[in-house]
Amino acid sequence: MSLEYRNIKVNDRPYQMCTNCIMDTTDSSITFDEKGVCEYCQNYYNTILPNWNTDERGESHIMKVIEKIKKDGEGKDHDCLIGISGGLDSSYLVYLAKEKFGLRPLLFHVDAGWNSDISTHNIHSIVDNLELDLYTEVVNWDEMKDLQLAFIKSQVRDIDIPQDLVFFSSLYNFAAKNKFKYILTGGNFSTECVREPFEWGAYYQTDMTYINDIHRKFGKIPLTTFPTCDIFKYKILYRLINGVRVVKPLDHVPFIKEEAIKLLHDKFNWTPYPHKHHESRFTRFFESFWLPRKFGYDRRKAHFSSLILTNQMNRDAALDRISRPELDEQTLIQEFEYVAQKLDLSVEELTKLFNGENKNYMDYRNKLKIINLGTRIMQFIGLEKRTFK
Ligand SMILES: [Zn+2]
Repeated sequence: MSLEYRNIKVNDRPYQMCTNCIMDTTDSSITFDEKGVCEYCQNYYNTILPNWNTDERGESHIMKVIEKIKKDGEGKDHDCLIGISGGLDSSYLVYLAKEKFGLRPLLFHVDAGWNSDISTHNIHSIVDNLELDLYTEVVNWDEMKDLQLAFIKSQVRDIDIPQDLVFFSSLYNFAAKNKFKYILTGGNFSTECVREPFEWGAYYQTDMTYINDIHRKFGKIPLTTFPTCDIFKYKILYRLINGVRVVKPLDHVPFIKEEAIKLLHDKFNWTPYPHKHHESRFTRFFESFWLPRKFGYDRRKAHFSSLILTNQMNRDAALDRISRPELDEQTLIQEFEYVAQKLDLSVEELTKLFNGENKNYMDYRNKLKIINLGTRIMQFIGLEKRTFK
């Protein structure tokens, strides 16, 4: 079985790594200043940091929002909706919402078939200890599998889009249908200020033109119950017509990864993951095996760069971590076999797909141009501070 790193040249640029974080020229359009500091760092210091307050200014801002959520929720069973994956960000957010803010959230979980044992344990420990209500949406597995297989067969990098799409769409569709005005999300600058570039398999999860094109070409069964939500439906219809508002509390309070892990562990016996996004076995496989070995991209560079910028990780420690795979070889091979079997492929078939000709989102229909226009408008009016490219 040939599952070694493929001999992929990701682009023609001479290799360069940022001297401040660990982003590098595997992002083909990355730019550096004369000191070798990259654009992600510049964006962080010039655009994010000056507007990011986790002191009393942040608290006073978020408490006003919380009071409004409470007032609007009077007489209702729940005043807000929180999507929970069992990962750190959403778990800590639930704790804050209930214990610190006194909110009455409904927790919403999507079971897409790939929960790790740790994530199931974590969700239950949070729900039981905080005595909150949990709604679980179970995705039709045949449709989930069909879309995931279609993405793998299309040879694009973004094979985690079906999961991202279903997590996102289920939550927003549920909010709109059940008249929730507020969705709290665990999105945050502290651990995510460096966004992975699109070419690292991080293209928009809600570009339905793209998703439908891939499914039309490689899918086998119609997606009749599969929850979807196009980016414009979410950004325009749900926000403006249904009035669904997204609140990101973690950006207004101190949120330090190691402290949050310790608190959740001590209070709820919550179990940490070795690495971000490992709550789903598929995502873990995608980020630690498929993407680095088939395409030559290591997303840990973005994750660790975020932590370096927010002073939660030392650059040398990050370089040491990325010098070897996150999981040992035996585990990686086991996971490869697990993924093949779960998707009804033989190991040989998945190996053949692994060795197939690599493509990217540009090879399929998409609406990137119009989305880019929308993002530029959002950045211009100050609603989006991260760099998308
Ligand atoms: Zn940098």
